[in-house]
Amino acid sequence: MKMLNEKVTKLLNEQINKEFYSAYLYLDMANFYQNKGLEGFANWFNVQALEEQSHAMLFIKYLQNNGFNVTLDAIAKPHLVYKELKDPLHGALEHEQFVTASIHHIYDVALSLKDYRTIEFLNWFVKEQGEEEMNAENLISAYENFGKHGGSLYALDRELKARQFVAPSLNLD
Ligand code: MG
Repeated sequence: MKMLNEKVTKLLNEQINKEFYSAYLYLDMANFYQNKGLEGFANWFNVQALEEQSHAMLFIKYLQNNGFNVTLDAIAKPHLVYKELKDPLHGALEHEQFVTASIHHIYDVALSLKDYRTIEFLNWFVKEQGEEEMNAENLISAYENFGKHGGSLYALDRELKARQFVAPSLNLD
């Protein structure tokens, strides 16, 4: 029984990989900061990675709930090279903009096929991506304001260490 259009399921299945890749990319960024002794920045990106994994699980669950046989592809190696402390912050914003475009593309396809169920599912992600981009922009601003001097960088790092993973408000069980 096919409940969703093939074009939509293909894109949703590909999105699972993009979300896991996002998690992998953020773990790589966390690793960069860990090696620089900035445990707060590392924590911020480790939490970000957990969020991305939880997003991947939501795409898996949505497809499974609609009778689709999910297939998992290989996760690419994170390819970004970081020189300065600010580099991963800009990489993260660019990556979130890429993910937003990807989700908007699925939305466009679902809309063209009058797939209202998928549109309703994706609405949560559209809002979430707005927040993700805002968080990435805020972190860049915080770094620009406080990251360039030892004392304030220390304080910012300590603040970022307090971030904790919160499970997504969307629950598909
Ligand atoms: Mg995500």
